[in-house]
Amino acid sequence: MTKEEYQRRIQDVKAKAHGRWPELLLHLGLDARMISKRACMPCPFCAKGTDRFQFTDKYGDGSYFCRKCGGGDGFKLAQQMTGMDFHTLLLAIESYLGMNPLAAQARSPRSSQDGLKDILRIWNEACAVTADDVVGRYLASRGLVLPAYPSALRFHPKLTYYSKDGNGRSRPVADYPAMVACLRDAEGNVFAIQRTYLPDGRKLSGADAKKSLGRGISGVPVQLYEPTEELAVSEGIEKSLAVHLATGKPTWAMLGAGNFEKLWIPDTVTRVSIYADNDADGDFTGQACAFALARRLKREEKEGMRREVRVFVPKFPGVDWSDIWLRRWQAEMERSQAAPQQVQCQPPRPRPRHAEPRATERKRAEMMELA
Ligand SMILES: [Zn+2]
Repeated sequence: MTKEEYQRRIQDVKAKAHGRWPELLLHLGLDARMISKRACMPCPFCAKGTDRFQFTDKYGDGSYFCRKCGGGDGFKLAQQMTGMDFHTLLLAIESYLGMNPLAAQARSPRSSQDGLKDILRIWNEACAVTADDVVGRYLASRGLVLPAYPSALRFHPKLTYYSKDGNGRSRPVADYPAMVACLRDAEGNVFAIQRTYLPDGRKLSGADAKKSLGRGISGVPVQLYEPTEELAVSEGIEKSLAVHLATGKPTWAMLGAGNFEKLWIPDTVTRVSIYADNDADGDFTGQACAFALARRLKREEKEGMRREVRVFVPKFPGVDWSDIWLRRWQAEMERSQAAPQQVQCQPPRPRPRHAEPRATERKRAEMMELA
């Protein structure tokens, strides 16, 4: 989210909160006597006096006034009284007012008309993934054999790959098959995509194998599976599919660790599992970003949003959940080949989502052992 988008989001919240500050502040836990009776009180800002402070709600913006240190609006008052940082408070108010930050992003002019046209053209040229196309085969090579592929993923047979020349201008390099993932706004419209280029059925080597197209994607996930009361999030698409296969949980892919903390999670989700990369061989980015999201979600509990939050980190540095899944899958393949009496030409199928809980628990435990 750009600075302008964030400002617009704040303005939207202010507009919606107008005239509703007394109930909002009570919801945030402020003293009812201060809010409802508008009583003169000691000032929470300068922490002095007996009657210098009064909640006035002048103009419906939650304002207050202190005879000594001056006044401010509902945001300032709520921050002082709750100790929340501004962003946490903004999320709390959005949540109370039933506002969806994704909707705010969707309204913002995130993609220029031309950019959006390109995004939709590529998305519409691509088709549903099947086991036999390049994307299906690429995923299978990583042990990601799915009974059905998420509709947020598509296969593009011939997508132009661009690279910057010495003058910083984009030049077409070649056409490659690609996996295209879509990002949808609150209304369900595609507004951005991520492309994973797959020449020869393998991920293009180098840093630019994955490219996103579209603005305002910060904090917006690829929604691979519909969340229930449960949701699991992971950094990338392959990792999220691995977590889904291993645990049966509905997963979202964050397209980078930096997006974790800004993720908006529906109120219906009460159990969140964050599957982090173990970046202990580097700068701990994976862990830091996962715990930043966990911390934010736990802080939101102050607003009455009760959630069980768990963070899973692989045991060994440099390992992520798709590595672990691939090793487990290869081990299962070897086991099945070592048993000649069993005719098994299919790789092991994932357990159906409605598998009995104990089986899921056991599977989860096995995955942990491999970590
Ligand atoms: Zn004061």
